Amino acid sequence: MDLLKKSFFLFLVFVHVFSLSAFNVDEMLDGDGLSSGFTHFLRIGIKTEVQSFMLEGDAQITDRNEKVISAVQGRFKVAAVHGGISVGGRVFKVDMIKFTSELIPLKVEDRMFRGEIEVYLKNAKLIVVNKLDIEDYVKGVINKEAIPSWPIEAKKTQAVLARTFAVYQKMFNPRSEFFDLAPTVLDQVYDGLGKEDMTSVEAVNATRGEVITLGSDPAKIYFHSTCGGTISSSAEIWKKDEPHLKELHCPYCTKSSLYRWKRNLKASDLAKKLGVKSVKSVSIVRGRTRVDSVVVDGKKIPVNKFRELVGFSVIWSNDFTVSKSGSNFVFSGKGAGHGVGVCQWGMAGMAAQGKNHYEILKFYLKGIEVRKMY
Ligand SMILES: [Zn+2]
Repeated sequence: MDLLKKSFFLFLVFVHVFSLSAFNVDEMLDGDGLSSGFTHFLRIGIKTEVQSFMLEGDAQITDRNEKVISAVQGRFKVAAVHGGISVGGRVFKVDMIKFTSELIPLKVEDRMFRGEIEVYLKNAKLIVVNKLDIEDYVKGVINKEAIPSWPIEAKKTQAVLARTFAVYQKMFNPRSEFFDLAPTVLDQVYDGLGKEDMTSVEAVNATRGEVITLGSDPAKIYFHSTCGGTISSSAEIWKKDEPHLKELHCPYCTKSSLYRWKRNLKASDLAKKLGVKSVKSVSIVRGRTRVDSVVVDGKKIPVNKFRELVGFSVIWSNDFTVSKSGSNFVFSGKGAGHGVGVCQWGMAGMAAQGKNHYEILKFYLKGIEVRKMY
């Protein structure tokens, strides 16, 4: 069994044991006995199928079996070459190498990364993976997903959301055999430790190991910028009923600049974006709480497709009305994002009113618990 599979197996064994143990939340939150055997690291694919990249640092190089094969210092090119991987011109006839730096984070191109950099050779191309502790990963993502000035309890909420998302993906939905998560909006935007600051580190440390669970498993969680007043159910938006993703009234996100928005689009610009000659009429078909589809000159377009074509940052959410004004169409909307799960501006609003991150999570996600996994 290779190392990756072995680690994943150990992780599953842990989760199995974890799920069999009697749940006493207080005990879970206090105890640290669960840390043994749980490999809380993640692999993030930071480059896929590249010919070469620049790496900088003072690093030890090991092979697949953790055997030290060399050491390098400075800035050097790592490249896929015939039958192996070249590091600063020296060829290693292996299909995987790992760079480890004890003190200073390694740099890939111009970005710094905590943890290790693994390089895999596949079909004469390189796959570059950052392997790091889940906690360090969460420190790197939360300021990409949250506004830096939000109150600490909102950042703690975001830290638990980001950690839960990562654990869930690693367990149930890894991106490839080489890595668990992509560094982009596909998963969570991650570009190393450049985005960390004092309060994000504080928020992550204060919630160390905390994961949202539903029954005995990490919950599949969703969040979005601003609900605009109503959180919609997953049953309505994705036609999939999830027990924790229910419809509810959110009075907390009014400070968001996208709580209400308006966009004026020229009919000719709209036509261009939709790839048609002209647009004469636009109307909407609403579901229970949000727009289900947009009808353009009699042709029905699912709302997400419509937003994708016109622009996710033009039509900010799936909750809007449309009217015609001369040769323009006016879109008036509420909120930003899909409207399911946690409303991020709402969690900032709740935190500003003195709610803690457990109260915030339990308000938005029905029937969940927050448990310390390690
Ligand atoms: Zn809201």
